[in-house]
Order: sequence, then structure tokens, then C-alpha cells
Amino acid sequence: MPRTDALLRDPRLAAAAGRLGERVVKAAIRQAQDRARSGGIPPERVPDTAVALLPATPGGLRPVINATGVLLHTNLGRAPLSEAARQAVAAAAGPTDVELDLASGVRARRGRSALAALADRVPAAGGVHVVNNGAAALILAATALAAGKEIVISRGEMVEIGDGFRLPDLLVSTGARLREVGTTNRTSAADYAAAIGPDTGFVLKVHPSNFRVTGFTRAAGTGELAALGVPVVVDIGSGLLAPHPGLPEEPDADTALRAGAALVTASGDKLLGGPQCGLLLGREDLVRELARHPLARALRVDKLTLAALEATLTGPPAPTATALTADPAALRHRADRLATALSGDGIDARAVESAATVGGGGAPGVTLDSAAVSLPEPYAAALRTGPVPVVGRLEAGRCLLDLRAVPPEDDTWLADAVRAARPAAGR
Ligand SMILES: *Cc1c(COP(=O)(O)O)cnc(C)c1O
Repeated sequence: MPRTDALLRDPRLAAAAGRLGERVVKAAIRQAQDRARSGGIPPERVPDTAVALLPATPGGLRPVINATGVLLHTNLGRAPLSEAARQAVAAAAGPTDVELDLASGVRARRGRSALAALADRVPAAGGVHVVNNGAAALILAATALAAGKEIVISRGEMVEIGDGFRLPDLLVSTGARLREVGTTNRTSAADYAAAIGPDTGFVLKVHPSNFRVTGFTRAAGTGELAALGVPVVVDIGSGLLAPHPGLPEEPDADTALRAGAALVTASGDKLLGGPQCGLLLGREDLVRELARHPLARALRVDKLTLAALEATLTGPPAPTATALTADPAALRHRADRLATALSGDGIDARAVESAATVGGGGAPGVTLDSAAVSLPEPYAAALRTGPVPVVGRLEAGRCLLDLRAVPPEDDTWLADAVRAARPAAGR
């Protein structure tokens, strides 16, 4: 049996130790030796087997092609970062001036350029602050403005955001009490007015971002609520900073603030297309109070997030924005080209029409015309477990690779992945 120290001198494994760390390389060596001990491979195959067992990337997370047709897939990390944001993250990875003014050499406001970029994009906000995610933004607002007091909220807006997380539970965990008003389907401004009193911390409006209630419904507008004389906090969820022509029903920060919201909370990694973070936008005095609250320190974002957020706000359109506005005819053209090329290799591939969705807590009920490459069902598992994992969608016994969330420059990669998956898919 080849010894571990000898194997570590194999140039390929020595190079890998520099790239991935010795622990990772030793684990691969141990696995290869175990295979030889149990007779699975001859001892002379151990070095090659250890090399083959090395992971491709230093971390456990692998890049994946999102061909699900769900633009913001929670299980795939929601919004993919733009090239500009990726470069900004790399630039900030080492020591960086996140909290230092290089000209004067004195301490400066943490993340000031990212915050300035955010303020610039939302002129209606007197103050801006960034925390770890949308839930953290709500927790900070509830703790700072309503602990020991009441949050007035419609029964139609007591939502679960996913994976068992319920906003009402989250709010109550801060020490605030919920004052429920109205009904599941109808709540009027008068319902809120009747509940407001000396104990009111704020009125909360939550965008039901992952379901729709239709029929005999009514909700009070932000403007009506702002007239009631207490702060109105609006959780818009998806992070649109201004109205989006393609998503007329989706709330946005600018509209909510102009209507009189004291604070708007949102996620950074949904329709804004940035890194995971939570945005707090609104009245200057309230935002300052939140940013100075002791809890703010526990929710603060790291330099990588600030770098990615700023580049998302100032740079070219993020992949999510591009995917949202992709032309269905162009998607169909790409699907045709891919299907033709793959059929030429004898694979049962067809271009089909498809319906994509926003997903991830945005634009519920909206479908986006899309196109997909349809393959036999066994390709789904084969593609997921291939060297370049591709996640498609199963529909009517076929594996669909929906192209709306796939950047056009990844088409070649996608075609190669399908060809590589063929033996495992069996046809
Ligand atoms: C997504 C969402 C949240 C939670 O935001 P995270 O960034 O996932 O913490 C809260 N409220 C609404 C309306 C949402 O859509």
C-alpha cells in the first residue's frame, strides 16, 4: 500500500495541498487507500484514484447552472451576483478601507460608499441602513421601535416566508406584541385606526410575497395608513427600489416612501439581484435610531456584502434584472439552437415553450414566457450530479432545462453538460 507521506510528494497531490489544504488531500488519499485495502482497486491505482477524488473547489459549495425556470431559487442561493459584484467581492477580500478614510487616516463610517450608492438610488429615503437579511431588518425595526409595545398588522399579512419561518413569530420574539386587525381577506384603514393607541409602536404592512388572495378582498393603502399619525413600516420583501414595468403588482421602495411610509424593509438578494442583505430605508431620524441600537451590531453586514451591494447598485444590470426582461423570442432561438445541436449528437432533445416564475418571495402568480430544452427524465439526476451540476425541472415525465435564468454565455457549458450526462442518463 502506498504510504501517505509518499503520496503527499506526488506532484499533483502536492499542488492540490497548496490549493485545497493538506487535510482535504489527506482525506482523498485515505479514501483511495481504503478502496485498495478492500480490493476495489489495485494498490498501484491509489495515486490516480486520490487525484480523481479531490474536490474541484476549496469549499463545499459548487457553482450550479440554474435551469429550473425559477429566477430566484432559494435552494440555489437566490440572486446570482453580477460580474461587477463578483469583482468587487474579490477586491474587498483582503484588507480594505471599509471603515477607514485613507486620505485623513482616521476611522470612517463603515460601508459609507455602499450606503451612499443606496441613498442615491432611493432619493425618497432620508436615511439608509443595511443588515444581514430582510428578516434582520424587520427584527431591528420591531426591537427598536416596538419592544414592549404593539405592532398593528392585518390578519391577511401574517405570512410564512418559507422553511417554517413565520413573520408573526419573528416579530413577537423581539418583545413586541401583535395587534391583529381585519380579516384574512379584507382589512380597512378604519380597522387599523380603531386599534391604534398609546401602546402602538408602529403599523406594519407586509407584502404577501409568496401567495395571492383573490376575490372579495380589500387592503388599506400605505397613504391611508400614514394619515393615522403613527409610523408605518412597509415590508416590501423583494427589494424593487422603483416600480418595474414588467411587474405592476410588485411593491417598490420609492412608491411606499412617497406614499408616506416611515420605513421600508426589503431583501437584497431577491429582485434587486444583489447579495443576501436587508435594506432599511426611510425617515432619517428612525434609520439613525435603528443603526445606533445595540442590536444593530449583531446584525451588521460584512465587507464582502457591502462590496457586492454597492457594485450591484452602481454597475450594469444584474443577472436577475436581465433574466426578468429577457425576450421570449430570443430564449426560443437559444432553445432551438441547443436542441438542434444535441439532436445532431443523437440525444432526444426538443425545444419547447415553458413558463418561468420569479420565485424566492417575489411576484407571486406571475409567469414569464420562456423556452426550454426538453430531455428524457433520467437526465434530471444525471445533470444534477455531473461535473458541472445543472438543475432543471421535471414536467410531464420530461426534464426541462428552462433558459430564462441561464445567461446566454452559459449555453455552451449547458450543451457540454448534457453530452457528459448522456452515459448516466442511459440515452
Ligand atoms: C423574503 C421576505 C422576507 C424575508 O427576507 P430574508 O431576506 O429572506 O430574510 C420578509 N418579508 C417578505 C415580505 C419577504 O418576501
